[in-house]
Amino acid sequence: MKTIVKSRLAELLQTMAQDFRVLVPVKSEAISQFVPWQEGLTVNLEGNTVLPPKDIFFPQTEKMYKFKVKGSSVDIEEFAEDVQKQVIFGIRSCDMQSIDCLDKVFLTKGYEDQFYKTKREKTLLVALSCTKPQDTCFCESMGLNPQEAPGADVQGYDLGDALGFVAKTPEGEELLAKYGSLFTEVNAVPQKVEGFNLKADVAGIPEKLAKMFDHPIWGEVSQKCLGCGACAYLCPTCHCFDISGTVKGDQGYKFRCWDCCMFSEYTRMAGGHNPRPSKKERVRNRFLHKLYYFKDRYGQLLCTGCGRCIAKCPVGMDITAIIEKIKEAEV
Ligand code: SF4
Ligand code: SF4
Repeated sequence: MKTIVKSRLAELLQTMAQDFRVLVPVKSEAISQFVPWQEGLTVNLEGNTVLPPKDIFFPQTEKMYKFKVKGSSVDIEEFAEDVQKQVIFGIRSCDMQSIDCLDKVFLTKGYEDQFYKTKREKTLLVALSCTKPQDTCFCESMGLNPQEAPGADVQGYDLGDALGFVAKTPEGEELLAKYGSLFTEVNAVPQKVEGFNLKADVAGIPEKLAKMFDHPIWGEVSQKCLGCGACAYLCPTCHCFDISGTVKGDQGYKFRCWDCCMFSEYTRMAGGHNPRPSKKERVRNRFLHKLYYFKDRYGQLLCTGCGRCIAKCPVGMDITAIIEKIKEAEV
């Protein structure tokens, strides 16, 4: 395994940053998130980021195209995006799985979202194994291995004083070879991750939910929800967006921005009708999408067990407790 002592990580990142835009997990007082590497930053190797990395491919707001009215016609021009080759360094297994979910949404079933694709194609993913689960982590229950991230180009391992790296794709092989002189070859065995406090038994849940659209459970579990949307904004797999525009005189532009199915306006139609008029329908939709609809369409759940929604919901909504309730519900 190629290793580097942690005290030389900045040197590795600085060298990489000459060839790529390198995004690293950084913790400031209020928040932790992936930001572009620059000299002097301290990379946060403890636990996962509060904000997920989805905005790297799917920004919270993104300009799509501009338009100008010319007599009876309209000129439309897409915004030219200058996307650099980039490396996301230190991404955890749960967030790698979330990228797989986003890939399915934005790149499969006969439709390719060019905004997403352009950024995704220019990205190399260097995962980092976890050493200790946070209190709200339950990725293992979702079939993930915190030491082996699905789809990574390079798998990184936290070895205590050093970091180890193993290439998982030809692109990852090339990346490690490029900075080979900074690594030392060592036979190392990463420590197994143990001590998950939180578990969820999802066996049979999608099949059971198929019969629970009208179940009274939704009225019960939705009662305390405030509809604030924090769960969706922090969720690495949530991907709904709205398209808005701005116009000045005869010209303007369209942009998309994240939306959230927990908001009452999400399904409100032009005439005022709303097919999800209360929290009951909105909360039901969130959990059916995560645990049933997405599996039905793409063959996997839309939850990776990252635990962010549990950690940050202001009223303590806990998806693992809801899975338990579904398990126990009579149908
Ligand atoms: S974070 Fe909690 S209160 Fe806010 S919308 Fe999500 S479930 Fe509801
Ligand atoms: S639903 Fe919650 S635990 Fe699951 S991926 Fe989203 S934020 Fe993470």
